[in-house]
Amino acid sequence: MKVVVDHTLCEANALCVEAAPHVFELDEDVLRIARPVPPSEQERAVRFAVASCPKQALRVMESGQ
Ligand code: SF4
Repeated sequence: MKVVVDHTLCEANALCVEAAPHVFELDEDVLRIARPVPPSEQERAVRFAVASCPKQALRVMESGQ
């Protein structure tokens, strides 16, 4: 799994950071994906974060995509 953000959509409201703080972080009001390829134990939290984003700015690419 790989997760990417579309910065043209992201409003930096930190909801994904709350959902998966080991993967997402805010750096000077810009969302940064600290671990674009999350470890397997974080995948569930990442999927929850992606579903929680009100701007639909996050996208998951499965292996092989
Ligand atoms: S939840 Fe969505 S809009 Fe909010 S910081 Fe994360 S990617 Fe950006």
